[in-house]
Amino acid sequence: MSAAFFCTKCGLCCKNLDKATAYAHLDRGDGTCVNFDSTSHNCRIYESRPLICRVDDFYEQNLSAHISKSEYIAANLEACANAQHAHKVDNSPTHQERF
Ligand code: SF4
Repeated sequence: MSAAFFCTKCGLCCKNLDKATAYAHLDRGDGTCVNFDSTSHNCRIYESRPLICRVDDFYEQNLSAHISKSEYIAANLEACANAQHAHKVDNSPTHQERF
């Protein structure tokens, strides 16, 4: 069994890069990523996006020795829910277990 994170494309993470210094190099100046498409809410470089934007790969390379995948997914979902609540967006991602 493994946890999976399903993004609902609210776009809030890509529009709030100024909240985390690790994303500063992607900030176009107003907190939004230079690669974010505001119309589609898609990443224009999705297939080659940085490791820090790759939920599963980032976990495997940096966090798997420290926390469980379920804990990591839960933390991501909590961050999404908090951002969506703060911005009055009702588009919560889901947490599913794959068998
Ligand atoms: S590179 Fe893509 S996924 Fe990463 S913050 Fe920018 S738009 Fe979002």
